[in-house]
Amino acid sequence: MLGLEPTLVVLLFSAISAASAVLGAGPFLFRRQLPIVQIGWANALAAGMMLGAAYVLLIGGLPLGAAAVAAGAVLGIGFAAWSHTASGTGDLDLNRLDDTGPTYGYQVLLVNSLHSAFEGVAIGAAMALSLPFGVFVALAIAIHNIPEATVLCAILTGRRVAISSAAGLAVAANVSQVMLAIFTFAIVDAAPGALPWALGLATGALIQLVMADLLPESYRQAGHRTIALVAIVAMGIVVLLRTAVA
Ligand SMILES: [Zn+2]
Repeated sequence: MLGLEPTLVVLLFSAISAASAVLGAGPFLFRRQLPIVQIGWANALAAGMMLGAAYVLLIGGLPLGAAAVAAGAVLGIGFAAWSHTASGTGDLDLNRLDDTGPTYGYQVLLVNSLHSAFEGVAIGAAMALSLPFGVFVALAIAIHNIPEATVLCAILTGRRVAISSAAGLAVAANVSQVMLAIFTFAIVDAAPGALPWALGLATGALIQLVMADLLPESYRQAGHRTIALVAIVAMGIVVLLRTAVA
């Protein structure tokens, strides 16, 4: 693809995905802080796109072996949940702007970095299935990284971090995405039997992150109906676009 080595394609598109987080700082060029309801929408938008990505990964993986995909998904859910417990961020609400302790900003950066790592697995596994499919997933994750970075920037600027630094930190939190994309691609390239497991793992992890991290606080910020609507429409768009380009 593009006349590049496959690994370079993975590197290029996962790097584009990681770097797109810088655009999430855009709204803060015009205003100092966003209304809380818009933070909820940004999270719901990111969550819906992740659900769309999870769906297309699942559909891509099932023909390779439903049992392996299901077992991988259980592992993905377990890893995503465990990564919170292991990092001491089990009950952390991820998009609070008020009433937070001094270490909250660091904890949110750590959780964002772990979150991005699982999306890196999604990009690497999708690339291993086929490069055009991988590029589609990487671009969907790239666009979803924008509202996710907006939420992170809102938290960081609320803690008096300059917007340029907040934008840099949002990109830095995505470095794990590039690393895990290349790592997953290399593993599956060496052991093709691992592909349905990797696709399942990414699916399970993405759904767990949406359900446990992105949506709970958003419901409080913008109301159940709007959050559900924004998330479902965002998911639908990803699924429809996949059908359109497949
Ligand atoms: Zn995400």
